[in-house]
Amino acid sequence: MLKRKKTREVKIGRVGIGGNNPIRVQSMTNTDTRDVAATVAQIKSLEDVGCELVRLAVLDQDAAKAISKIKAKISIPVIADIHFDHRLALICLEEGIDGLRINPGNIGSEDKIDKVVEKAKNLGVPIRIGVNGGSLEKDLLLKYGEVTPEAMVESALRHVKILEERQFWDIKISLKCSSVLKTIAAYQLLSSKVNYPLHIGITEAGTFWRGTVKSAVGLGILLFQGIGDTLRVSLTADPVQEVQVAWEILRSLQIRQRGPEIISCPTCGRTEIDLIQLANKVERALQNRSEVFSVAVMGCVVNGPGEAKDADIGLAGGRDCGVIFVKGKIKRKVRGEKNLLPALLKEIELFLQNKNHSKRLKTASNKNYCPEQDLRK
Ligand code: SF4
Repeated sequence: MLKRKKTREVKIGRVGIGGNNPIRVQSMTNTDTRDVAATVAQIKSLEDVGCELVRLAVLDQDAAKAISKIKAKISIPVIADIHFDHRLALICLEEGIDGLRINPGNIGSEDKIDKVVEKAKNLGVPIRIGVNGGSLEKDLLLKYGEVTPEAMVESALRHVKILEERQFWDIKISLKCSSVLKTIAAYQLLSSKVNYPLHIGITEAGTFWRGTVKSAVGLGILLFQGIGDTLRVSLTADPVQEVQVAWEILRSLQIRQRGPEIISCPTCGRTEIDLIQLANKVERALQNRSEVFSVAVMGCVVNGPGEAKDADIGLAGGRDCGVIFVKGKIKRKVRGEKNLLPALLKEIELFLQNKNHSKRLKTASNKNYCPEQDLRK
């Protein structure tokens, strides 16, 4: 179990971040926020794959005024991403926003900052300070000569000071840049200086596969060091994939689990079925499942069940056939390559039904068990 640095807790709506809360998975919509139907549809897709918080870009007053309509139709907390314009922040707060991402040092005059901070404080809405390597203050670039971890941290601490001077402590901080090494160093430095919860991410990480690798390396190292209270994987891809990658990073480090783990062999000269296609189909078929279990998709009967004996359930292919195995023991044979996927999915359903049944029996044997409560779940 990795040891995590203890940070202050902030609440974005009903979702706690930092403190003893789990590391939260979040993403950002890429719809026009003014288009309520499209934004709600995307948020629901994100919720389905385990997104716990969502950020929306608020570019104008119409987008800010759409917040309450969007919130009425979804169940996860919403954070408004605002650059510079304090009036948009005030409207979002009136519309019931759960969190703001705005840098107080970029708002402008003191009275504008006061208005936003006062209103956020009265409504209990946290503010995320988000420093991005690409938009560092000019004087810091001059001082450090380029974007450095020290420059990013100094920028973040300036914004923190503005909030602290107004007795505002519900702060979250992110320090993002597209360099993995600089981002890691920046978060390490910041983590040694503050105990506010940290939102971690590698920004502009790239397309699906490159961005996934960069995010997994950068965020994986930070999480391994106990740094990070919420993560957003930034990909030039469908935000749904950002959430899926984030969960996979957390699973890989055994921090949190959601949905099935899919184990599949790399294939070799013994493979006699189209295993690559089959493994991808299994992954797609199970992508919205939230139950925690493991499925193996292996290329041969001789080694497959043994190599994947820790998987809850699996399939090993042969020539135009396959075997289904449970915990490494063969359960049944399936003839015809086209029948492998449906047979495996059917067995997974049975496995999960049995698992739920045993769980209910176990709970029922507990003297404090309340069947009505179980039915309501
Ligand atoms: Fe090769 Fe079989 Fe191992 Fe897959 S499970 S890599 S097919 S030996």
